[in-house]
Amino acid sequence: MFGTMMWQALTTGSLIAHAEKYHGDTDVVSVEGDGSLSRSSWREVGANARRIKSALDRLGVAAGARCATIAWNNRRHLELYFGIGSGGRVTHTMNPRLTPDQMIYILDHAADEVLFFDRSFLPVVAKLVPHLRSVRHFVLMGPRDAEAAGLITGLLFHDELLETGDPATEWPDLDETAPAALCYTSGTTGHPKGVQYSHRSLVLHSLGGNQPDGLAIAARDTVMPVVPMFHVNAWGVPYIAAAVGAKLVMPGPKLDGESLARLIEAEQVTLALGVPTIWMGLLAGLKSTGIKPVSLKRTVVGGSALPPSMLREFRETYGVDLIHAWGMTETSPLGTLNQLLQKHGTLEEGARHRLRECQGRPPWGVDLRLVDEAGHELPRDGKTQGELQIRGHWIVESYFGQEETALTLDGWFDTGDVATLDADGYLVIRDRSKDIIKSGGEWISTVELENIAIAHPQIANAAAIAARHPKWDERPVVLAVPVAGETPDEQDIRAFYEGKVAHWQVPDRVIFVEALPLGATGKVMKAKLRELYGDVLLPEG
Ligand code: ADP
Repeated sequence: MFGTMMWQALTTGSLIAHAEKYHGDTDVVSVEGDGSLSRSSWREVGANARRIKSALDRLGVAAGARCATIAWNNRRHLELYFGIGSGGRVTHTMNPRLTPDQMIYILDHAADEVLFFDRSFLPVVAKLVPHLRSVRHFVLMGPRDAEAAGLITGLLFHDELLETGDPATEWPDLDETAPAALCYTSGTTGHPKGVQYSHRSLVLHSLGGNQPDGLAIAARDTVMPVVPMFHVNAWGVPYIAAAVGAKLVMPGPKLDGESLARLIEAEQVTLALGVPTIWMGLLAGLKSTGIKPVSLKRTVVGGSALPPSMLREFRETYGVDLIHAWGMTETSPLGTLNQLLQKHGTLEEGARHRLRECQGRPPWGVDLRLVDEAGHELPRDGKTQGELQIRGHWIVESYFGQEETALTLDGWFDTGDVATLDADGYLVIRDRSKDIIKSGGEWISTVELENIAIAHPQIANAAAIAARHPKWDERPVVLAVPVAGETPDEQDIRAFYEGKVAHWQVPDRVIFVEALPLGATGKVMKAKLRELYGDVLLPEG
């Protein structure tokens, strides 16, 4: 045959092999469970990942078997990402904040054969052991530990496992459509569902999501994924960082604002990624420590809507460019990222800010559309609201263990989000379809109501929900957390809405609470709030 190009499967092993060979000296810094800092390199992470692969071979763990992790963002977890997944098995990252029952359900559903865990999760795992049917090996991610060995029969230790493995093991030739990683949705409704990423989808996600108008991570960056490695693969950062050989800073378990601020300063982080709740903490931490994050050029925020006031604070107070992104477990997760186009260079500042507040545009590799309830496509005019659907190289087709497709008849995935799109593809998430408030047949965006409340100087955080109403079916109620030491007045806050939204969209009640209930991935649990406050507008009895 003449005139052909070389064929190489798109595998995650090719990413770590590149990092080892061409970026071997680049640092991988990791905060450990005891708070100490360990310093390693892509060369060492790669060699240890090969050792893990070979040790799993020796333990007789079958090709394609799921191996679960319950761990924070640290060096050993990174070794497992590649050691398990690139070695031909499936890295199944588990959310440690789930209840024991949810963990048992997920481990059973995934039929995990091995369970790796950080030392701090020993008490949790010890309680799970008698209930797990599929797990054959438990591995503590650390050195040998007599106390732990006494709690779990046959317990193995990551550092000893490394010694049994061969650092020269080759990354296997795999089918690029074979699975490499598995992540369950947090199951705010119904049972959690598993999304299994293939080698091909992970590699294309790394390349597509990291284009210059995307995350744009380069070898000269120092990247700190604060978003957990169990939350949609830390948005793909471990794979992307390997592909480009960036320095990685893994923050471990201490995610309070002051610890993060100190780590950014000490390691000269240039790019950090996380959810808005964590960034609220970081902003408070910068204030209390007085640290100026001079090295920090960009932060990426996603997972839930970005309060516009946060965008301004990062930009104006600290000169940090904030990039808003949208995605979900089913989309690997990068679906849109907010970067401007050439024509926006001349926009006046207010309009530019408003554009930067939205969720951004799809990179090459994914495609978006809006449809009405009957499935008809709606105009991309920046005004018409509809159900957001997505398709592309790194979008789910069917859930793990489920035979039926997760797609529409014409091959799109329905996100469950309500949104607008404009002609350039800029996305505004108005709400999740299950959260939006339907008042007398009109829709009110909870995101918009929350952003206004958070912009009030006496309010630290807020969540808007639909409360049942005898006349309008649903009306907005806002649960607001006051800034420490402030005692805001309900009528003042309601008055603050006037002129910012249509009069009929002003919340009926603003109720002050000490804290908002956060789910396993740091998002406000709206279903819980509806349970607690959904009836406050109904006449008693
Ligand atoms: P879950 O929140 O159900 O655990 P995901 O982590 O997959 O699962 O979350 C995906 C959902 O999070 C999206 O469908 C969307 O509703 C919300 N989301 C993600 N990023 C953003 C964003 N930037 N703005 C608004 N909502 C977002």
